[in-house]
Amino acid sequence: MAEGFISDEDIARVREANDLVAVIGERSPVKQRGRDFWCCCPLHNEKTPSFKIDPALQLWHCFGCGEGGDVFGFVMKTEDLTFPEAVRKLAERAHIDIKETGGRGASSSKKARLKDICAKTAEFYHTQLMRSPAQGAASARAYLAGRGLGGEVPRRWNLGYAPGSGVLVRHLTAQKFSAEEMIEANVAARGRDGRLRDRFYNRVMFPIFDAQGDCIAFGGRVIGSGEPKYLNSQETPVFHKSSVLYGLDKAKAAMASTGTAVVVEGYTDVIALHEGGMQNVVATLGTALTLRHIRILARHAQRRIVYLFDGDAAGQRAADRALQFIDASMTPEAGKSKIELCAVTLPDNLDPAEFVAARGADALHALIADAQPLLAYGIERRLSAHDLGTAEGRTRALADALSVLAPIKDSLLAKDYAVQIAGRVRAREQDVLDQLAQLAPPRLDAHAEAREGGAQDQARFAGAGDGARDEAPMPAQRFSSLPPSERNRLRFEREFLSLLAQHPLLALEHADALASTQWHSEVHAALASAVLGVLAENPAAEPAGVIAAASQAHPAAAGILTSARVREGVEPAAACAYLSEELGIGDAEEAVASLKSQLADARGMAPEEVDFVFNSLVAMQKDLAARRAAHKPHHD
Ligand SMILES: [Zn+2]
Repeated sequence: MAEGFISDEDIARVREANDLVAVIGERSPVKQRGRDFWCCCPLHNEKTPSFKIDPALQLWHCFGCGEGGDVFGFVMKTEDLTFPEAVRKLAERAHIDIKETGGRGASSSKKARLKDICAKTAEFYHTQLMRSPAQGAASARAYLAGRGLGGEVPRRWNLGYAPGSGVLVRHLTAQKFSAEEMIEANVAARGRDGRLRDRFYNRVMFPIFDAQGDCIAFGGRVIGSGEPKYLNSQETPVFHKSSVLYGLDKAKAAMASTGTAVVVEGYTDVIALHEGGMQNVVATLGTALTLRHIRILARHAQRRIVYLFDGDAAGQRAADRALQFIDASMTPEAGKSKIELCAVTLPDNLDPAEFVAARGADALHALIADAQPLLAYGIERRLSAHDLGTAEGRTRALADALSVLAPIKDSLLAKDYAVQIAGRVRAREQDVLDQLAQLAPPRLDAHAEAREGGAQDQARFAGAGDGARDEAPMPAQRFSSLPPSERNRLRFEREFLSLLAQHPLLALEHADALASTQWHSEVHAALASAVLGVLAENPAAEPAGVIAAASQAHPAAAGILTSARVREGVEPAAACAYLSEELGIGDAEEAVASLKSQLADARGMAPEEVDFVFNSLVAMQKDLAARRAAHKPHHD
């Protein structure tokens, strides 16, 4: 909403004026097959089309990478745009004028006003840190000095101290900023009693600057113990976490001159490295590196982006997340000039500040110069997680290391690496190459999900749907290790949810099932309640609208809810009725099994309780048998 608010009516007009088949057709050649259109997926590398466009529902889904959505989602994903940017772009395509409340002129002055609040806040916090005689400010100074961030460092980085207790609110009020502006800049918030409060309380403050050096947000570290240890500003019209890198304003000159950008985990690492003599360093703000970050860095550093990971467990988790950025654009076949992604782990469990303090900046420069390409790094990491001295360890190491290559499995580079892996695990080259060819490509939205944090595994796991090609490498391993009955259950759940999202009238009919099904995946449960929520607000919602709204609730929504694959000639209503009953029978079977296990361990139960459970069990089994007999597949 940074550039103004676009009304739902305008969004609907833009959607109607942009036919999905035509929009996608401008990018990839589409072919009609039955009532649907198909093309090669513009989001992942493929030779045979697995990208389906449903012209009636105006929805798309790729059965190769699992992505899906409506026309806005397509433009957002293929052009790396935000939702409002995609709406504007498609409005332009269709020559539609949209009104944005606020408008561009007003909004740029509003942005300037928000940046002004941030600048005044940073200045105020800095003065508190440097001059305040209060106990808290003294502790903040001591904290920084104890971490080698004393002397000139607070002035150079404009560090501060937030006393809290409404001191900032009073200061900004005196400067004629309104409560709404302070809230929008996220330096104040309303308490439960409605009163305006400082957002940051008793914290060391790290102002966050954009690439031009304007303060746009804050990170606050608690002094002493307390939770959360780090608190960042939330998203505001001037602050978008996924496109901001801490330290970029100070690092961009060194990035241009060295051709290299170094990415570390935290702001204190950035400061310590800059102060220690390495200036091309930035950090993300508590998120994984996003594609947007990579594009921004590539504008300043022409050659390499090097991830510098701490040797501790958190650093290694970050390394695993970074492996998700491997994609087809990293192979020589992709051709276009591209930036090289590399990675290196600091030795001996050191963090960047400790490393520079102990061994000097030159040692760090040497370490970074030796950073391995991310692929080689990832493979090495996976191999070293297993005991290559045993046959069993080598088998596991092979599967684990090979999965790193899944996104680029058809490239020559992947084959080269596969041969190297074969050598390391003493396997036959041809066997390993065969295994490589059988890997499933991953879903591309790993990046988007990485930003959402913990939900990602769950989401991609649930995304593993019908057929091997729908399954991502890591989740696929987990998915295929499930018993067949459980895999079927998850497929049925996914198909049911997807059909209902695409046919909102049927969703209203099956609202009870949506609400009462014992979903076997948390993501499915979240999507069911999101679909119910949308329809409760607007029972006449269009499929694209339902899916767009569910996407707000869960990042995996669009991919899952566009994935239904009813055969032609099968009525969606019949398919839904079948799936609803299938899931209902499954839930009933589980209830029966649970009663049986209660009876099997009936010690301590009163005889009348046993009777009661037994009678319920008999009744349920009878009912279940009748339901099973009446339950016929919908597609024969
Ligand atoms: Zn795809």
